[in-house]
Amino acid sequence: MFEKPLLACGVKLRYSPLLMSTHSHHDHDHAGCSSGSIGDRMVEAERLCARRGVKLTGQRATVLEALLDAGKALGAYDLIERMQAAGGGRIAPITIYRALNFLVENNLVHRIESRNAFLACPEGHGTHPEAVFLICEACGRVGEVTSPELESGLASLAAERGFSPRTRVIEISGTCAACATGLAR
Ligand SMILES: [Zn+2]
Ligand SMILES: [Zn+2]
Repeated sequence: MFEKPLLACGVKLRYSPLLMSTHSHHDHDHAGCSSGSIGDRMVEAERLCARRGVKLTGQRATVLEALLDAGKALGAYDLIERMQAAGGGRIAPITIYRALNFLVENNLVHRIESRNAFLACPEGHGTHPEAVFLICEACGRVGEVTSPELESGLASLAAERGFSPRTRVIEISGTCAACATGLAR
């Protein structure tokens, strides 16, 4: 489900695009930010799929767009509700699950196991080391952290036991910095 760990050059922490603006170079509201950045993300996602020889077909693109627009982790049924409310007509769950599987396999979307929810990758590049997800119980924000030290630590732990890992999920629940300092609305 997840890509094999890649080497990272440092520890990175990113939050979902619409919840914590990553565009601090100019002032604007989040609504203005989202439309532009969602468009950019979609273009990036299409390029990535083209490079991999896979197709970001209509339904896959619509689901990714809806998740980017949500800016937070959503369960499949919440996602369907949002898409139907946005005028998508009746959508069968199987259609959504197929699209989500594709997006997860291509690392454009992450599955948050403990919440049975899906999150558009804030990195948006489709390739990064396996992330540790930081889930805020107060506001629902999901942050992604990657760390080469953690990667190699886990790899050697498994190697010591002769264990070949296939998947790895690390999700930490708690309070995000904004909520801890009372800055989140
Ligand atoms: Zn990611
Ligand atoms: Zn929070």
